[in-house]
Amino acid sequence: ADQSSEEALPLLDQLRSRHSADADGILAWLRYRQLKLPEGSGFDQTIQRTLQEAAEGANRVRRIVRDLRSFARADDEALQAVDIHEVIDAAIDIADNEIRHRARLEKDYGEVPAVRGAPGRLTQVFLNLLVNAAHAIPEEAYGDQFIKVATRAERGNVYIDISDTGTGISDEIIDRIFDPFFTTKAQGMGTGLGLSICHGIVTGLGGEIKVQSRIGEGSTFSVMLPASDV
Ligand code: ADP
Repeated sequence: ADQSSEEALPLLDQLRSRHSADADGILAWLRYRQLKLPEGSGFDQTIQRTLQEAAEGANRVRRIVRDLRSFARADDEALQAVDIHEVIDAAIDIADNEIRHRARLEKDYGEVPAVRGAPGRLTQVFLNLLVNAAHAIPEEAYGDQFIKVATRAERGNVYIDISDTGTGISDEIIDRIFDPFFTTKAQGMGTGLGLSICHGIVTGLGGEIKVQSRIGEGSTFSVMLPASDV
């Protein structure tokens, strides 16, 4: 590696390890390392903006790497009989921060057999669905907003419905939402990988995932998983 990349690598590490875009912090760090930046005449602001964009880019990469990691993890967890309610409750605990300010969470758990799966992978599925449901409901939403999780058994399969009273999904995009990298979220906010991860995991277990939605009324994601035969 040449001199300049040896200099650049620690800076990249620094960017990568930051939890949020923070150009001020990066500027301070550059100054601490005595890397000179011209002051005044707007040039400083240009650098500030460029660094802000770099930090946002790093942030976006961090999200993508995190989502891609869960693809990788998906293969090395052994299949076992899983209590789906335990898995959903774990996902609810993790998503609670996103849900609490926006909606009431309702549970309607039926009597269901264990499913065949891997707890970590399945937690990821319901976490993605719950976070998407929460993000479909604006924080300042007026009125009675809820996210409902219902489970039932039918002919040897377990069905899990996650419904929200959020924005709904238009007919123009509904066929694309399970595609990798399809997102309607602001740049840096969504990776567009969540639903394609869900789809990959669920179909990998012999199940199905579907959506029904109406603009302005909300959406229901329905997951079917075969019951465990062990
Ligand atoms: P991301 O959340 O990063 O955008 P996803 O694959 O999880 O990626 O979702 C893709 C897109 O599907 C979202 O950007 C959004 O437009 C739409 N979507 C997913 N879930 C919902 C939902 N519950 N309500 C409304 N739109 C949704």
